[in-house]
Amino acid sequence: MTQPTPTRSWVASANGHADFPLQNLPLGIFSINGSAPRSGVAIGDAILDLHAALDEFDGEARRAVEATAGGQLNAFFELGRGPRVALRERLLELLAEGSKLQTREAQVLHRAIDCQMHLPARINDYTDFYVGIEHAQNVGKLFRPDNPLLPNYKYVPIGYHGRASTIRPSGTDVRRPKGQTLPAGQTEPTFGPCARLDYELELGIWIGQGNAMGDAIAIGDAAEHIAGFCLLNDWSARDIQAWEYQPLGPFLSKSFITSISPWVVTAEALEPFRKAQPARPEGDPQPLSYLLDKRDQNAGAFDIELEVLLTTASMREQNLPAHRLTLSNTEHMYWTVAQMVAHHSVNGCQLQAGDLFGSGTLSGPQPGQFGSLLEITEGGKKPIELPSGEVRKFLEDGDEIILRGRCIREGFASIGFGECRGTVVAAR
Ligand code: CA
Repeated sequence: MTQPTPTRSWVASANGHADFPLQNLPLGIFSINGSAPRSGVAIGDAILDLHAALDEFDGEARRAVEATAGGQLNAFFELGRGPRVALRERLLELLAEGSKLQTREAQVLHRAIDCQMHLPARINDYTDFYVGIEHAQNVGKLFRPDNPLLPNYKYVPIGYHGRASTIRPSGTDVRRPKGQTLPAGQTEPTFGPCARLDYELELGIWIGQGNAMGDAIAIGDAAEHIAGFCLLNDWSARDIQAWEYQPLGPFLSKSFITSISPWVVTAEALEPFRKAQPARPEGDPQPLSYLLDKRDQNAGAFDIELEVLLTTASMREQNLPAHRLTLSNTEHMYWTVAQMVAHHSVNGCQLQAGDLFGSGTLSGPQPGQFGSLLEITEGGKKPIELPSGEVRKFLEDGDEIILRGRCIREGFASIGFGECRGTVVAAR
């Protein structure tokens, strides 16, 4: 007879924790007091040190813990679902109320506040998609009022190859980039600091088991190739972007930094928050068959609430609360994460464990749901006023952007993603 899944932890702060209750158990890489980075699991306000607790695991779960060694989770991602599930099941036992692991608390648990988080994996490749259809329409309208969506959008999960080397964990400062821009009304570009610095609210997707070059990942298998999820801020220099993006898409306007939340939220933790992919509007084409799978259409989308907050240096000095810029949801994805994986590999492109995808900006249709300042201020035409009396068209030095993600469903414990923060600092 199977035991009921435990719901309460002996780690008191986990019970009712906004992000990391017992039901979440995300993995990450941390260090403490300058130690070598190592793997851990977020539980309430604490981190379980997987290496220190290694002798509590055996079989598949132990194989999973051993694969997290070395300060990066790539080998663990490569193991796929079976060992990941075995690890989760053992963690649920070890961290549940009544577990004898509590007697080893001092040895295996650290206060998260004392730890530094690192990138969870070595990221070989990063691809940013554009599946947020409301964002695509809002941005398209700014450039092409009569024809906001190009005809390929509803057939192809659009994306571009991003820069893996400048992905950084939450908390890393965002140096204002310099570059070429074309001032309004001019025909010659100038060079200098970006004047239209923006954020983009995105879901990050960690690739688990990859594929051999030449072999496509079938849509029905695609979910098996996803190791987990994070929040992603695709910082964007809109003035540099406007000048450089044609004909080949974004380049230096996006590659100066991409910030991610450091905890990998697993597919298993997100299981209660899956939902059907929203029906396509009347008149939209059906996905081509290599992108269409019944199970994926029935349960391949997620209900994740996404939030963006802003504080300015002045607001922090005055102890004013962060100002909410965006409240959106992953339900605005026109393509599922499985469709993104299937499409990316359909030509034989090799995906590898630890590759990262961005979803593209996930805006909703209403004001208050827009996932970038480009949309909120209509390209700088409608500045927003902050509680401090300051106004913003785009981000100023000292501004901090905070992304949060939260899953809420009646009858289930809420889980969250932790934060993805970044503060803008002056160009060098
Ligand atoms: Ca983007």
